[in-house]
Amino acid sequence: ETLVHWVPLLQDGALMGAVAVFHDISALKRVERIRRDFVANVSHELRTPVTVIKGYAETLLSGALAQDPERGERFLQIILNHAERLSSLVRDLLALSELESSERALNLQRVPVKEAVERALLLVAQRGEEKGITLTCLEGTASPVVLADRARLEQVLINLLDNAIKYSERGGTVSVDAAVEGKLVRILVRDSGIGIPEQDLPRLFERFYRVDAARSRDNGGTGLGLSIVKHIVQAHGGTLSVESEQGRGSVFSFTLPAV
Ligand code: ADP
Repeated sequence: ETLVHWVPLLQDGALMGAVAVFHDISALKRVERIRRDFVANVSHELRTPVTVIKGYAETLLSGALAQDPERGERFLQIILNHAERLSSLVRDLLALSELESSERALNLQRVPVKEAVERALLLVAQRGEEKGITLTCLEGTASPVVLADRARLEQVLINLLDNAIKYSERGGTVSVDAAVEGKLVRILVRDSGIGIPEQDLPRLFERFYRVDAARSRDNGGTGLGLSIVKHIVQAHGGTLSVESEQGRGSVFSFTLPAV
């Protein structure tokens, strides 16, 4: 899409002609549309838990459940769940906006992959245990060293491991591996979970994109995790990719510069 803009050419106050300036505004419009969609999505995501919290709190305050403490307790639990959703959303939105404002530069260090993976595993271990999932880390491989922001790398690993556990059935396995590819290190997070339909793969890293919104919400998901992961990986000059087969599992992998 182009916008034409005529600029008069004057010489000694006399009109000599005009120059046409063509502006390509399709890219601008696209950015504007993405921004508008994002704001609409955020508003929708925030409104839902707020509406639920208001409704249940009002019912409790009206005294309608005074004779039914069990039901009252269930309502309080629902209020708590939705408050937790709100706080996850705010946390992820802040993480995204922090990543987008380039003020916060990466604090690049030499990080042994195994160290970062072990710390991330520690944080997700409980959730894995609750679902009876076996977690393994760099079995039989040497630990490469990458140039990365340690905290950000751990955030990437935690998000990917968290998803691997969330989207697995009980008793599954999740493993992390690393392989040197020239000047890069590829880190892979594999799961034996539910997998992702092929038609969803191209849009998976978009903000708020979910294969199954209900399942994501039930698991405390915000739909922002993978877009945060992609941002961090790209800030390091790496790439994020996914391979998946429905019903068999998924492999998310990303590259980072090797030391
Ligand atoms: P969410 O908070 O919904 O998990 P993400 O951005 O982390 O958001 O992931 C986006 C969607 O990708 C999820 O809703 C889910 O449908 C799908 N997904 C992510 N990781 C996996 C995985 N390991 N196995 C199956 N599906 C996954």
